[in-house]
Amino acid sequence: MAETAPAKGLRFQRILLKLSGEALAGHKGYGIDLDVIAPIARDVAAAAQAGAEMCLVIGGGNIFRGLMASEVGMDRARADYVGMLATVMNALALQAAIEREGRPARVLSAIPMPTVCEAYIRDKALDHLDKGRVVICAGGTSNPFFTTDTAAALRAAELGCDALLKATQVDGVYSADPKTTPTAKRYDRLSYDDVLKQDLRIMDGAAIALARDNRIPIIVFSIKSQGSLARVLQGKGSSTTIDGGRGA
Ligand code: UDP
Repeated sequence: MAETAPAKGLRFQRILLKLSGEALAGHKGYGIDLDVIAPIARDVAAAAQAGAEMCLVIGGGNIFRGLMASEVGMDRARADYVGMLATVMNALALQAAIEREGRPARVLSAIPMPTVCEAYIRDKALDHLDKGRVVICAGGTSNPFFTTDTAAALRAAELGCDALLKATQVDGVYSADPKTTPTAKRYDRLSYDDVLKQDLRIMDGAAIALARDNRIPIIVFSIKSQGSLARVLQGKGSSTTIDGGRGA
């Protein structure tokens, strides 16, 4: 956990924000839509401006998913490497958008590619955070058969983040799909074990277990409306908190 006190008005000082690739795809459902990235970058830059230390992990599902490619015959490990490279493209696009908002950002890839970005080295990431830069972790965990959710929990643990913010298209975890079940109830709070036992599929099991073992709360919120990140950081707006449950 970060030892510094949170900036005034913020619940957490150091945050790991997990963005899925689909958050960058917009209405097209595929690829990178710069008009969709811009408001997300604005929210990230505003949070950093407010004093939050921002670490980002970005997925690649808007470009390539290893599991889907393996289902149609591609070798799974090789397909996963393609997926991990997709996350680097997303990270570079996000870096450009955040810097356009006037905030310095660095991409650190778990798969070294020295002519494109820095390699992920924990000390370097911490140094960038100390200098007020947004750190974008790309390349997943660098291992096939994992996901960027697990990469997010891993980076949150090793970078001492106070919370893992999982940005989705809905404002929390519901008892059923709110798009098809209008009576679905949003949970304010769940325990890690509830999520694992009920197989709620918010993040993969490895990510939830890693967050649980390192006591990192997971906040599930919607990135769709502008300003939602700031609201979550101020303890406002709707979201679901996943933590150790009562007495946590
Ligand atoms: N991936 C991987 N190892 C990792 C992280 C990601 O092999 O540590 C691959 C995997 O093929 C995955 C793809 O990268 O399908 C994109 O990541 P993910 O599906 O987590 O992206 P998201 O759903 O968040 O957009």
